[in-house]
Amino acid sequence: MARVKFLPFAAPSIGEDEIAELIGVLSSDWISTGPLTKKFEQEFGEYIGAKHAAAVNSCTAGLHLSLLAAGIGPGDEVVTSTFTFCSTANVIVHAGARPVLVDIDRDTRNLDPRRVKEAITDKTRAIIPVHYGGHPCDMESLLQIAKENDLLVVEDAAHGIGAEYQGRKVGNLGDIASFSFYATKNITTGEGGMVTTSDDCLAEKVRVMSLHGISHDAWHRYEMLGSWYYEVLCPGFKYNMTDVQAALGIHQLRKITDFLARRDYLAQLFHEKLSKIPVVEIPTVRPGVKHAWHLYTILLKDGLLDCDRAEFIKELTAEGIGTSVHFIPVHLHPYYQQEWGFKKGDFPVAEDVYERLISLPLYPKMTDTDAEDVIDAVRTVAERHSV
Ligand SMILES: *Cc1c(COP(=O)(O)O)cnc(C)c1O
Repeated sequence: MARVKFLPFAAPSIGEDEIAELIGVLSSDWISTGPLTKKFEQEFGEYIGAKHAAAVNSCTAGLHLSLLAAGIGPGDEVVTSTFTFCSTANVIVHAGARPVLVDIDRDTRNLDPRRVKEAITDKTRAIIPVHYGGHPCDMESLLQIAKENDLLVVEDAAHGIGAEYQGRKVGNLGDIASFSFYATKNITTGEGGMVTTSDDCLAEKVRVMSLHGISHDAWHRYEMLGSWYYEVLCPGFKYNMTDVQAALGIHQLRKITDFLARRDYLAQLFHEKLSKIPVVEIPTVRPGVKHAWHLYTILLKDGLLDCDRAEFIKELTAEGIGTSVHFIPVHLHPYYQQEWGFKKGDFPVAEDVYERLISLPLYPKMTDTDAEDVIDAVRTVAERHSV
């Protein structure tokens, strides 16, 4: 029987602490970038283990600034996965460089290091590994390729808060990383992002460019001119985070361990029950990683169903379960075909996974009953269409 109340695909967990802090900021005289943003940066940097953390207004902004800080621009090529949100590729274009998309590893849906290697030319300047769904990329191979070819490694850590690779946190594996605090991500500030790096020079450039290219130090150096004085060092962007956002972020970060534990618990429940449904393939976890379970995705096995993925999703919706699909491969979008010459058939692994994938709801606020309802709905639709 379908659920009475529809279970949304994603929902944030905002508690009393966040609300109290928000009221505090809104009643104060400082609501834009200020002391809470600074505090959030410090606590986030400590959590990741990176020397610097710079708050921005989105992960997209953070990725854009990371490329610019490294001096990447026209004439350069940047390699990334086709199996990501469009913004990972869009920022390469914003920087003026060429987006070089590559295919994925079937099981983790992360960048396939062999494909990365093949895609490198004398113009390649950087790799953007995307830790898909919260499963860290094969960083050992990717860092080796980067080292051999003198490439910058910019982690797209939008899904990766709390994920670990060989005991080290995502966001502290490459040269620089960008996290997302969009409403559906593992912690949220409504909209927001954070750049982490242990490189002093990259950190300083990101900071300056995130707020109009204004130097933070100018008024210290010229104190006799007063605190109104500033200098513009480059045509920066309006990418700063506000204290209203940081008020949420500080408390969300404090709950990260509980959030991750709950996500892991629900993922294990899904594994156990969904693995018994013959048409369903459950996600893989490689040894040596701690999965952040931002996404729980299933694949519908070939030849076992008399309906397609779209129909399967429609019937899950009718059962009261919200779902999504992560992602429509970047190379299938009109812009990337028309402007950069990609076409259907370019990346067969990503296309095959995309056509059979469904992202199921998985978030801390879900009850065990909610999770059971998801499992029951998948089983019901699967049994209805099994051949
Ligand atoms: C959400 C997401 C982004 C963009 O994050 P924003 O904070 O919304 O800019 C980038 N990459 C991936 C893989 C994402 O899922």
